[in-house]
Amino acid sequence: MLRFDELSFWEKLSYFEKIDFLIIGSGIVGMSTALYLRRKHNDARIVIMERGYLPTGASSKNAGFTCFGSPTELYDDLKNIDENTVWDTFSNRYHGLKSLFDLVDKTTFDYEPCKSWDLIENGVKNDIDNEFIEYINTKSKEITGISNIYGEDGEISEKFGFEHIQTSYCNKLEGAIHTGKLVQALHKEVTHNNIQVLYGIEALSMENSSKEVHIETKYGTLKTENCIIATNGFAKQWINEDILPARAQVLVTNPIKDLKVKGTFHFEKGYYYFRNVGDRILLGGGRNIDIDGETTEVFGTTDQIQNKLQELLNTIILPNQPWSIEYSWSGIMGVGKTKSPIVKMLNNNTAIGVRLGGMGVALGAQVGKKLASYF
Ligand SMILES: Cc1cc2nc3c(=O)[nH]c(=O)nc-3n(C[C@H](O)[C@H](O)[C@H](O)COP(=O)(O)OP(=O)(O)OC[C@H]3O[C@@H](n4cnc5c(N)ncnc54)[C@H](O)[C@@H]3O)c2cc1C
Repeated sequence: MLRFDELSFWEKLSYFEKIDFLIIGSGIVGMSTALYLRRKHNDARIVIMERGYLPTGASSKNAGFTCFGSPTELYDDLKNIDENTVWDTFSNRYHGLKSLFDLVDKTTFDYEPCKSWDLIENGVKNDIDNEFIEYINTKSKEITGISNIYGEDGEISEKFGFEHIQTSYCNKLEGAIHTGKLVQALHKEVTHNNIQVLYGIEALSMENSSKEVHIETKYGTLKTENCIIATNGFAKQWINEDILPARAQVLVTNPIKDLKVKGTFHFEKGYYYFRNVGDRILLGGGRNIDIDGETTEVFGTTDQIQNKLQELLNTIILPNQPWSIEYSWSGIMGVGKTKSPIVKMLNNNTAIGVRLGGMGVALGAQVGKKLASYF
């Protein structure tokens, strides 16, 4: 193990000396912060440090929905959170997606404006009525300028072959991306903008003086003028606020002949979500059946949740077709009691942008933009 003080003159000069901005975490937030900082500070040395050999949190593991609010989620939030906060969150997600498209060309990560549907299962009380749809259409138009984003779609089962669904609500603005290609596109943009990414280095602790921040790692100390923490579900060590790790499990089926399902779908207030990826189904969720077990920083899948996901494939999503599971994995999100991220300065030279919840694809670049605006 080579320590920093054993590196060559060239290595020290090229990577470690006079760092103006050191970003901890190379997810969507870390990389978009770096890109927005570059727009403001042309000559600055900007470095991202990442503990994994790939981003190792949520950004390269998510389901790839570009979502900002389904009717049942909005209904539930409006019951529990004040109205302004609910629509601020909607607005941040909507504009966050625009910010993401401003940073990287959306064709590079296969963005598809394929719509989303919020499914209401048989036997479940449906709280959504025409008056509520009218209300959310009015509020969402104020934010987006687009009319009639939401509407009921009662034909969903015939169209896509679902069973046990009473009706659905469509959001015509939501869509999907290729998660892996987004992370690669951001990384490409980052390197193109002369930003270094150091993989395999974990920030262990931090000390601040008015002039510098010292980050301790197992290879020695990294010094920087300014530091930005973008570690999302792993932020507890840096901030004493309401943030917890939340594991989320996902699976992907084999390719399915003549798959009818096209688009993105949620049900049970977003606790379950699925989409097609070409001719496969990606399905995730189920944290609600084992909240304690899934409040963890440890990656892994469990029989309880994987079995529940497979039951949903059998009963609702692919009831009359054979399928098998070809991939399953987990990722770690950062959540709290509210759905707003924590984005702020911790002191004169350190900022933090974490707690992106389950909507970081849409929110991430907006958080990065705000973090960069502090410097
Ligand atoms: C299974 C799953 C499905 C999801 N589906 C969707 C979806 O469809 N749509 C959507 O909008 N959102 C979705 N999300 C949420 C979304 O992926 C996240 O909100 C978003 O990726 C958060 O980005 P981030 O950059 O804040 O965090 P992350 O991507 O988690 O990045 C944080 C990085 O910090 C690194 N790190 C942590 N601690 C340290 C340290 N001490 N030193 C160095 N590096 C460190 C981690 O390795 C990690 O790479 C999903 C999440 C999961 C897990």
